[in-house]
Amino acid sequence: MSTYKFYEQVNKNFDKAAVYTRFDKGLLAQIKICNTVYHVTFPVRRDDGRIDVIEGWRVEHSQHKLPTKGGIRYSHKVDEDETMALAALMSYKCALVDVPFGGAKGGVKISTRDYSESELERITRRYTYELIKKGFIGPGVDVPAPDYGTGAREMGWILDTYRQMKDDINAEGCVTGKPIQQGGIRGRTEATGRGVYFGIREACNIKEDMKALGLETGVEGKTFVVQGLGNVGYHAAKYLTEAGAKMVGVAEMEGSIYDEDGIDLEKLVQFRKETGSIIGFGGSKELPNRSDALIAECDILIPAALESQITGDNAHAVKAKIIAEAANGPTTSDAHEILKERGALILPDTYLNAGGVVVSYFEWLKDIQHVRYGRMSKRYDETSYKKILKVIEGLSDRKFTEEELGDLAKGADEYDLVDSGLEETMITAYQQIVDIRREHNLTDLRTAAFINAINKIGIMYEQMGIFP
Ligand code: NAD
Repeated sequence: MSTYKFYEQVNKNFDKAAVYTRFDKGLLAQIKICNTVYHVTFPVRRDDGRIDVIEGWRVEHSQHKLPTKGGIRYSHKVDEDETMALAALMSYKCALVDVPFGGAKGGVKISTRDYSESELERITRRYTYELIKKGFIGPGVDVPAPDYGTGAREMGWILDTYRQMKDDINAEGCVTGKPIQQGGIRGRTEATGRGVYFGIREACNIKEDMKALGLETGVEGKTFVVQGLGNVGYHAAKYLTEAGAKMVGVAEMEGSIYDEDGIDLEKLVQFRKETGSIIGFGGSKELPNRSDALIAECDILIPAALESQITGDNAHAVKAKIIAEAANGPTTSDAHEILKERGALILPDTYLNAGGVVVSYFEWLKDIQHVRYGRMSKRYDETSYKKILKVIEGLSDRKFTEEELGDLAKGADEYDLVDSGLEETMITAYQQIVDIRREHNLTDLRTAAFINAINKIGIMYEQMGIFP
C-alpha cells in the first residue's frame, strides 16, 4: 500500500485553496468532511465451492446535493482512505462542472484477474444488495458509475439487481455507465477520455501558457505519453492522436515502452490483446522500469492509471511540460510542488477527468425523463434545415447534392447532443478556472479549481442553511 494518505493529500489541496475563500472555519470543515462512510463485508461462493470474504465501501462525501454520485472501483488496493479521497474529489469535480450532485465513491477490495466472470457477477450483485439494504443506492439517493476495474457490464448487473428488489419507475437512474439497451447513453464509455482531450485542447490553446512552456499553441504536433491504457487512457490517446498529437510512450502493468517516431494506438491495443503485453511492440524500445514512461521525453504526460504515481521520488525526473491528470490523484502534493518549481503546467484531475460525470449526468437525466435525447427534435430539425437549404438554392445557382443535403441538414442525434454538451462543459469549466487563477494571481490551476469548487459548495450551504 502507498505510504501516501490519499484523503490527506486531497485535504491539503483543499486547505491551500480555502484561504482564498470567505467562508468560516466551521463551514469549510463541513465541506471537507465525509458525511457517511459505509464499510461492508460479505461472503461470496467461488466457482469451486470455496467461500471468500469480500470487503467493500461506499462513501458519500457530500450530501449538499442529492443524489450523490461516484464510480465503483474494483482493485486489491481499495481501502477506506482511498474511497474517502475519491468521494471527496467527486464533490469538487461535480461543483466545477456544474453537475448538481454531491460526491460519492464505492470500492470493492478485489483483483478482478483473480475471479471468473460469474464470480464477479455474484460479487457485484451481492455488493449492490448490501447498498440497497442500507439505502446507499437509488436514483434520488446515490448513483454509482464505472471506475477502475469496472465498466458497463458491472453497471448492468447493478441495475438488474436493483430492479429485482425495488418497484421504482426511475430504476434505470440508479446507476450510470450502463449498456445502451439498459438505459445507457451513447458517448458514456468514451466520455472521460474525450473530456481529457477537450481539457488538454483548451489548455494548449492558451497562448500565454504555451509561450511560458516554450511550446506552440494547439494539440497538433505535440508528443504525449500515457500511463494506463484502460478506458480513460485509451480514449484520451485516441482523440489526441486524431487531433494530430503523437503518442511516443506507454506504461502498463507489464512495463514501459517508448518510440520517438510514434506508437500506433490501435495496433498496440491489438498486439496487447494477442500477446498479453505491450512489451516488444513494433519498433518501440522497452524501458528499464515499469513506470519509466512517466519520466520519458514528451510534451504531455497523461497518468491514467491510479493515484500517487508521480511522487517526490520521480517528479524531479519528469520531463513533460504539461501534466494532464486523467487519473484521480496521480500527483502527490510534494510532487506537485516539484513540478511547479520546474514550471510545468498541471491540469488537475478535479477538472480534467470530469467528462465521465458530466455524461453520467446526461444519462441520469435521460433515465428519469424516460426519453432518448434527440427523439423529439431530430426529424423536425432535419426538415427545417432542408427548407433553409432549398431557399438558399432558390436564391443562388448552387444545387446541393443528395450527400451534401444529408450532411448539412442532419438533425442532432443522442451522440451529437451528448458530445456537444460535454465539449461546452469542459470549455466553460476551464475558462472559469483560468479566470480564478488570474483573479488571485496564482500560477496553479489545481488551487484555482479547488477555490471554484469550494465557493460553489459554500454558497449552496449558505443558501440552504443547516438543518437543525
Ligand atoms: P481501467 O481499469 O479501465 O484502466 C486502468 C488501466 O491502468 C488498466 O489497463 C491497468 O492495467 C493500468 N494500470 C494499473 N496500474 C498501473 C501501473 N502501475 N502502471 C501502468 N498501468 C497501470 O480504469 P479507468 O476507468 O480507465 O480509470 C483510470 C483512472 O481514471 C482512475 O484513477 C479512475 O479513478 C479515473 N477515472 C475514471 C473514470 C471513468 O469514467 N472510468 C472517470 C473519472 C476518473
